[in-house]
Amino acid sequence: MSLNLSNSYQALGEKFSQQTSPTPVAQPSLLLWNEPLAKVLTISLTKEIDAELIAQYFSGNQLIEGSKPIAQAYSGHQFAHFNPQLGDGRAHLLGDIADNQGKYWDIQLKGSGTSNFSRQGDGRCALGPALREYIMSEAMFALGVPTTRCLAVVTTGESVYRERPYDGAVVTRVAASHIRVGTFQYFAARGDTQSLKKLTNYAIKRHFPELTAKSSESDEDNKADNEISSQQVLKFFSAVLAKQIPLVFSWLRVGFIHGVLNTDNTTISGETIDYGPCAMMNAYHPETVFSSIDRNSRYAFGKQISIIQWNMTRLAETLLPLVDGDEDEAIEKIEPLLTQFHQDLQQGYLSMMARKIGIDEPAEGDGKLINDLITLMKDHKLDYTQTFVFLTASLTYSSTEQDNVSGIEVLIVEALKNWLPQWNNRIGSFKKAAHTVMMKSNPVVIPRNHHVEALLESCQETGELTALNKFLAVLRQPYTETPDTKNYQDAPVDGDKDYHTYCGT
Ligand code: AMP
Ligand code: MG
Ligand code: MG
Repeated sequence: MSLNLSNSYQALGEKFSQQTSPTPVAQPSLLLWNEPLAKVLTISLTKEIDAELIAQYFSGNQLIEGSKPIAQAYSGHQFAHFNPQLGDGRAHLLGDIADNQGKYWDIQLKGSGTSNFSRQGDGRCALGPALREYIMSEAMFALGVPTTRCLAVVTTGESVYRERPYDGAVVTRVAASHIRVGTFQYFAARGDTQSLKKLTNYAIKRHFPELTAKSSESDEDNKADNEISSQQVLKFFSAVLAKQIPLVFSWLRVGFIHGVLNTDNTTISGETIDYGPCAMMNAYHPETVFSSIDRNSRYAFGKQISIIQWNMTRLAETLLPLVDGDEDEAIEKIEPLLTQFHQDLQQGYLSMMARKIGIDEPAEGDGKLINDLITLMKDHKLDYTQTFVFLTASLTYSSTEQDNVSGIEVLIVEALKNWLPQWNNRIGSFKKAAHTVMMKSNPVVIPRNHHVEALLESCQETGELTALNKFLAVLRQPYTETPDTKNYQDAPVDGDKDYHTYCGT
């Protein structure tokens, strides 16, 4: 069985990564295998037939043919403090693999042992967080959020010690790439312009092949990988900015709080990465935070747009030496791109929220309509998901049904009693079109924190996966009511007021 792994990142050379193999585990056993994702990646292994081999490969115990594992080097601003030396402290990039469309994906093990970047860490991952990453990333993928995904979760038969022993696991992460803002920062901090150019060329080839100069094919082939024009760098930066827009707006659309948007957790590809301390918002409030270490609420729900801007500004700084002219001139060239990004984000927020209330093309006054709604939601602590589900459904109610709403809906109707007529007025006779738009913008189910946690607990206690698979089946159709959907739509009784999430577990 061959997986046709290539090692394009390793080929960049020793400055970019450490060559190091996963540390074998005592007793690898396959727990979850993402069959649909395996198919996309043209990996023909199945859980029924190949469980043992999958467990060997995706624990790191047996090296996949052609794999030259590495730990990638990167830096990062963690909660605004720059750390020049982070890197994969518990992950191994096994290589990359072409999918059924010819697009390349990184295959990375996480929890697979230490590297030169481990600092005090043990290189391992507990089962709970591994399962959590699997559930959350699958849910996000189905919600239409750009995201890294999980191919497998393998238990190790070893304990991982946090405040007490937990079962250990290795999770396999699949990403368009693992290049982060922090990867650029790593070389910028070292004044290594040659490597920055190399990295930029690699990222262009991988993510934005349409940007490669096409003056002549042979010219392009012969060009050294550390040669890049100022113009190309600016185009690259624009392309990276464009990737962040659908990312951050899908988070805001579905109520996702990343929780640790450090620059090492912001990808060039615009994929959601690092599901450690993420959570979903229940009642709408822009300051919602669940991460136990985010004491200043830097990464609160409503701050995510400005944080992505902050992170992109850090990326811009790393690119200055690659842009023509002295530093001031380079800034002058790159700043308009950030200004444009800012404008696109303002406009994009309005468009995204407008779609959530059925308006495809926002017009004058819609900004106020949206603001009024979210202010009411905040003041009345309305559940974000349920409110939009109600608004969507309300467009299909006949007048008799409108008198028949019950429970939560009564609260929503009461809170929005002055707003609903204005909105209905705005939608006018375009109810059907509005309904179609809203059905695509408003999920009927999200991976609610209390359901995720309850499942993680039962899975870890019993090793039984039936309940988890049921949940996953519902999460994979988040815009469709299935017979089981209603089991997962409830908001937590206590509003998750004591709920906390953790990094690096
Ligand atoms: P994160 O907070 O998950 O973004 O991780 C930040 C840094 O800590 C990265 O360099 C990780 O590789 C490293 N790290 C997190 N957990 C561990 C661990 N258990 N062992 C070694 N390194 C770790
Ligand atoms: Mg991380
Ligand atoms: Mg993490």
